[in-house]
Amino acid sequence: MAFEGLNEKQAADQAAQLRSQLNQWADEYYTYDSPSVEDAVYDRTYQQLVELETKFPQIVTPDSPTQKVGDHTLPGFTKVQHDIAMLSLGDVFSKEELGDFVDRLTSTESVPFEYNCELKIDGLAVSLRYENGIFVQGSTRGNGQIGEDITRNLKTIKSIPRKLSRPINIEVRGECYMPKASFAALNEERQNNGQAPFANPRNAAAGSLRQLDPKVTARRKLSTFMYNVADYDDLKADTQSGLLEELKALGFTINPSYQVAHSMTEIDTYVDKYQQLRDGLAYGIDGIVIKVNSLPLQRSLGATVKVPRWAIAFKFPPEEVQTVVRDIEWTV
Ligand code: NAD
Repeated sequence: MAFEGLNEKQAADQAAQLRSQLNQWADEYYTYDSPSVEDAVYDRTYQQLVELETKFPQIVTPDSPTQKVGDHTLPGFTKVQHDIAMLSLGDVFSKEELGDFVDRLTSTESVPFEYNCELKIDGLAVSLRYENGIFVQGSTRGNGQIGEDITRNLKTIKSIPRKLSRPINIEVRGECYMPKASFAALNEERQNNGQAPFANPRNAAAGSLRQLDPKVTARRKLSTFMYNVADYDDLKADTQSGLLEELKALGFTINPSYQVAHSMTEIDTYVDKYQQLRDGLAYGIDGIVIKVNSLPLQRSLGATVKVPRWAIAFKFPPEEVQTVVRDIEWTV
């Protein structure tokens, strides 16, 4: 969308309209696990806001969806403060934008080109805390600073170890998801019971984890892939790929499809491969995450208020064509 000819006041008005629409969709999606539009529609509107705020930086507000992670927590759950924030990911929608991201990083850092390519699992982020190797607390991302305590629900998931292979203190992050087969069975059961089906496996996983009765979660057959460490008193790995193997050795389930890439061509090949294989996987993926492989470099690159600077999500085009496109009508 071009914003040519807008003055600052008009730009601020349009940004306010976009924010209001995005906040409404985010509320439906994050708080009620019941989106009314496809992710691609949300993403396109979000991009319009990014473009507008980039052109008019003075109109950015601290509560803009571009400046904050996820959203609300549900009443009924104890709140958990994340000492190390749980962030979102920056995203790109074309190979060209992906190449720009990698070029920018590679040209500013005089380090060997090494990225870890991972599948972007279509679930929701969870954080798991272990003390002396024992699982003590699990939480949702919430707004990145404060999440919901869902320990009892996470304890019903088989892929989450109650006890690690070593008695260490660690906080691990990853994705909780609902396999496609469980999703299909759940929606069939819901329809037979006259209940509304979940829109997608991500929303079904989120709705299933944020249940006050853990028995309901237990029936939903959720699973996890862990991919990050927030806090660890004994980390040996110095690469992202090494970290995944270390997590596996501790007893976590990691996604085995990760691959280290040494060139943009290798990243391209990985993206194309999993775009092709996507439908045949037992779980949903909505893109590929490309991460700087060196952990010291990840730390030195740091993060913005919302996303790490050392990673990017390449989002796949939506699986189904959107027939109804809801857009904001411009009133300039
Ligand atoms: P996101 O889902 O685009 O990406 C960030 C998340 O990816 C991380 O927090 C993590 O949970 C996940 N992830 C999966 N695999 C990963 C891996 N291997 N490594 C690292 N992270 C991985 O961002 P978000 O902030 O969670 O959600 C924003 C997105 O949600 C939007 O882009 C949109 O698609 C969707 N959304 C849709 C609606 C709607 O109404 N349809 C509303 C709000 C948001």
